[in-house]
Amino acid sequence: MTARILSGTDASTEILADIKQSVARLRQEHGAVPGLVTIQLGDNPASTSYVTLKIKTAHDLGFQEIQSSQPATLTESELLALIARYNRDDSIHGILVQLPLPKHIDESKVLYAIDPDKDVDGFHPVNAGRLLIGGEQVKFPPCTPAGIQELIRRAGVPTKGAELVVVGRSNIVGKPIAVMMLEKSAAANATVTVAHTATRDLAAHCRRADILVVAAGVPGLVQPDWIKPGACVIDVGVNRVGERISEKTGKKMAVLRGDVDYERAREIAGWITPVPGGVGPMTIAMLMRNTLRSLEYRLGLR
Ligand code: NAP
Repeated sequence: MTARILSGTDASTEILADIKQSVARLRQEHGAVPGLVTIQLGDNPASTSYVTLKIKTAHDLGFQEIQSSQPATLTESELLALIARYNRDDSIHGILVQLPLPKHIDESKVLYAIDPDKDVDGFHPVNAGRLLIGGEQVKFPPCTPAGIQELIRRAGVPTKGAELVVVGRSNIVGKPIAVMMLEKSAAANATVTVAHTATRDLAAHCRRADILVVAAGVPGLVQPDWIKPGACVIDVGVNRVGERISEKTGKKMAVLRGDVDYERAREIAGWITPVPGGVGPMTIAMLMRNTLRSLEYRLGLR
């Protein structure tokens, strides 16, 4: 069997085109556009490349986008004051703080200072709680899990009663995707297992998965013989395993690898996401969707 490729690049292109149309409509009918601010401290190259992509995407969609580049020496109280300012600003509907933050800043304190109604990353405890309750309570589903579920939904992968195994229990991927896929709703309703480093016999859990979501951050962790023939394999891992020179730009680029041995796994799986070009582009698309939703809530359209 050769797996169907779940292309996040293709799906996100369609999603972003829909968002762009909605933005144009809101501008025309309500005189408002989504406003997104991205706060970055320092100039970590990986953070800068993520921020640049977010800003460019927001700009292309017609959002009001603000890049707030701050020195790495900004104090915690200065950062909190900056967030408070954007919390009060009615033209801003989404506030992002690019992680990781410098060591002298308490990350939780900063993320929890963001108004939950502008928390388009969905990391605030209020939004984590809404996600756990589910249904209509969910305002901003966290972006990476939302992107994973959207790929599964679009591909028509059967989820009702499916054995779904998540490898990884982080607050940004593992736990929320487990909660979302457990919901009694479309593109969910699965029987969910969450595995981690203390899991006994990880391979056995993976082997019985109809849907396997791997978010461990360990290159090539999942071996081909851990995959059930015909399963849907979602590889969230993005691991920098080296560098190469880009043929296009002549610049150094990171060589990325997922948590799954893609080339061999695609001969066994029924569906599989590539790395790069799978979950990554979906994360950005979901971030833009959440920012649009935030404006729609503000206008009373949701
Ligand atoms: P994280 O916070 O480091 O969590 C990793 C999880 O995987 C932990 O729960 C850990 O278990 C588990 N784990 C690690 N090694 C394992 C092993 N050998 N066997 C079983 N479980 C293992 O990572 P994260 O933030 O969720 O990110 C995971 C990966 O996804 C990273 O490569 C990251 O770059 C990528 N990512 C991609 C996107 C995207 O948009 N494409 C977004 C977010 C993250 P313990 O809890 O027991 O330590």
